[in-house]
Amino acid sequence: MSIFTYFFLGNLTEYLYLCNTQIYKEMQSRRSFIKNIALAIPAMSMASVMLSSCSKKDELPRKTRKRIGIIGAGVSGLHAAMLLHENPQFDIEILEAGDRIGGRIHSMDNAFGMGNVELGASEIYGSNNTWFGIVNRSQSAVVASQGAATYVIGETIYSQSQIEKDTDFIQMERQLTELKQFQSGADMSIDQFMTNAQVPERVKCIFEGKTEQFIGTTVDRASAVYNRSEGIEKMSEEKYRSGAKSFSNILLDNYAPVLPFVLNNTAVQSIDYTGSKIKVTDSLQVERVYDQLIITVPLSILKLSANKPNGISFKPELPSSKREAMDKLGMDAGVRVLLKVNKKFWNNGSSTIYTDGTIGRFEVIKSDDSKSQYVLSASVHGAKAEETLNNMSEAEIVRMIKNEWKASMSSDVANSIVDSKVIFWSKEAHIQGSFSYHKVGGSTESRAELARPVENRLYFAGEACNTGNNSGTVHGAIDTAETAVKAILKQLA
Ligand SMILES: Cc1cc2nc3c(=O)[nH]c(=O)nc-3n(C[C@H](O)[C@H](O)[C@H](O)COP(=O)(O)OP(=O)(O)OC[C@H]3O[C@@H](n4cnc5c(N)ncnc54)[C@H](O)[C@@H]3O)c2cc1C
Repeated sequence: MSIFTYFFLGNLTEYLYLCNTQIYKEMQSRRSFIKNIALAIPAMSMASVMLSSCSKKDELPRKTRKRIGIIGAGVSGLHAAMLLHENPQFDIEILEAGDRIGGRIHSMDNAFGMGNVELGASEIYGSNNTWFGIVNRSQSAVVASQGAATYVIGETIYSQSQIEKDTDFIQMERQLTELKQFQSGADMSIDQFMTNAQVPERVKCIFEGKTEQFIGTTVDRASAVYNRSEGIEKMSEEKYRSGAKSFSNILLDNYAPVLPFVLNNTAVQSIDYTGSKIKVTDSLQVERVYDQLIITVPLSILKLSANKPNGISFKPELPSSKREAMDKLGMDAGVRVLLKVNKKFWNNGSSTIYTDGTIGRFEVIKSDDSKSQYVLSASVHGAKAEETLNNMSEAEIVRMIKNEWKASMSSDVANSIVDSKVIFWSKEAHIQGSFSYHKVGGSTESRAELARPVENRLYFAGEACNTGNNSGTVHGAIDTAETAVKAILKQLA
């Protein structure tokens, strides 16, 4: 059965699964070779060498094949490449500004001597999606415990059972449930929603800690109406983490067949689609020409005006409707803070610690009770990341946490921090933020408009283009790659 038959049956995913299985079988003997090379020299370009051995492209004359350029080797770019590369109709090339693949998936192997940790995406939301399937095939999906938490409010430490009897906490939980069902004619920020709902001041930090990691910004910036079915709904999903294998290594493994087509350190500066071919020029002024382009750069990069460092110019300009849609979406600063501690100051069985300090939520991601060694992970987004953490060094952040823990708990707890790692996502030149969200006064149409192809030659993918309520996630980014590839196949059919 041809890919077109599959496509028209609406069964692209099944075709791709079969195709990938076939690729894997065919490449079994070459796979470890490719992977080793990819691990040693991430995504080096060996296109011409690998192409001749990996595909049936030679059966089609070069001039009848379409050249597809993919901008960005994050998960959406890699996935789009994977879907296209075995098709003899296409020659693909992935232009990646950074010196590694993965974008906002970035792991640290053997961190603090306690195994791998994730610096970007760290949890899989739900098991009914392609990303879970990929991780699960690596036998590396581990259920993330969402059990009891420990709460540090003022100078009091509450266990889960204690806080559940607290009237402020009970009211806060009730309002959180209302937010999940919130429908309103007039949009408002989640912060305004909290004020209207009279969430008690004392426990607002818990409300913020529970929501902000899923919306990617602070409650004062996010729309209560439009983030409800996106960010907020992620709260209720079952969550999985990487186990023995880190997410970065899973990417290298799963996308090994297309790594030879990645050109690293190739930052696209301009896209000229005035002629019949699309001219793409990088920061070294190297020009490449494609028939179709899939643009997967983060929303923050797409939003930059062309004269800003790392901005991309388009000729002709992108439609104003697309620019207006981008304005309705935000992508703010995000900071991941990892701490190694040598004292278990949370209650037994707790996997999360909520505090009313600057960092409102820590997750216990590694535990070794026999050595009394633990790793805590926190994500801070939006105004808190931008106005506070981004202006501090890693040492200052750790000092601030120590001071706060000393005041709320004890010197012993403060001094339990023995190591740290901080990543400032908005300072990564080609990422510049965490993930997209709907601003107040947003629109359900924004993401569809952002994703809409231009002249059936420029296709847009990446988490911000997800129209299925899965923006801001890895599996959502993968879905957009499938949508873009489907659109290209349909266009060329
Ligand atoms: C702190 C943090 C926590 C997160 N937590 C989770 C989580 O727990 N679960 C989850 O599912 N998701 C999470 N996410 C979101 C998830 O990481 C993203 O949704 C997903 O990885 C985005 O993939 P993408 O392909 O759309 O974009 P990216 O991964 O950003 O890839 C885009 C690529 O484009 C490249 N690029 C940019 N400009 C250019 C240029 N001019 N030329 C060439 N290349 C360029 C970039 O270098 C990058 O590699 C988190 C993200 C962050 C930052």
